[in-house]
Amino acid sequence: MRFASLGSGSKGNATLLETEQSCILIDCGFSIKETERRMARLGRAPSDLTAILVTHEHSDHIKGVLPLARKYKMPVYCSYGTGEHGQLRLSHHWRHLELGTAIDIGGISVMPVAVPHDAREPCQFVFSYRKKTFGLLTDLGSITPFVREHYRNCDALLLECNHDVTMLANGPYPYSLKQRVGGDWGHLNNQQAASLLEDAEVARLQHVVIAHLSEKNNTPALARMAIEPMLVNSDALLSADQEAGFDWLDIA
Ligand SMILES: [Zn+2]
Ligand SMILES: [Zn+2]
Repeated sequence: MRFASLGSGSKGNATLLETEQSCILIDCGFSIKETERRMARLGRAPSDLTAILVTHEHSDHIKGVLPLARKYKMPVYCSYGTGEHGQLRLSHHWRHLELGTAIDIGGISVMPVAVPHDAREPCQFVFSYRKKTFGLLTDLGSITPFVREHYRNCDALLLECNHDVTMLANGPYPYSLKQRVGGDWGHLNNQQAASLLEDAEVARLQHVVIAHLSEKNNTPALARMAIEPMLVNSDALLSADQEAGFDWLDIA
């Protein structure tokens, strides 16, 4: 199993996960053209995709989903609430994901984990394939015991480090937006993200990718400073870029 990112941040998110049998796109916050361009960079085309999974209906995650599914004719898996967005739930591409119930997509076990975020029925995903586990966790305002339990035993982790608390407080956002982003239904700050690793099996982590960084309220260096002390192997740590994403990472 291996994974890569087409881009990560408030301007658009999309992650690829593939095995010998299938290639899944998780979220698509980019236009069709942009998705094609970014996938080509990773040696893939949308026609290689088995399915699209959607975490929630914010435009940085869903914008390109239905256009891509229509053009390349593939199923879209998401919760009922997320499917309420646009025409998604009414389209024949939609497949219902029940949060908390694992399903099999092309041999990969996919667990949709409910998270606290200001969307209709948001989730994040834990994927398992041949005893290896990949956790994708962005867009949540706080770490619940349920989240902690599901992300404890990952071999690779893509983890939101949205903001630095001080930078957000002193930054350019209006008060209401600061409240939203920093609140329990907004986004994880660097310390919250680090706290997920407190009781995780960190020795097992081959890759930890810092993701969904705010361009205005965080820096990769600050996020790294928070996460690095939690890890056994600091070489495992890298960050996802809004424009470049990151290249394929193998989970051995
Ligand atoms: Zn987002
Ligand atoms: Zn969101």
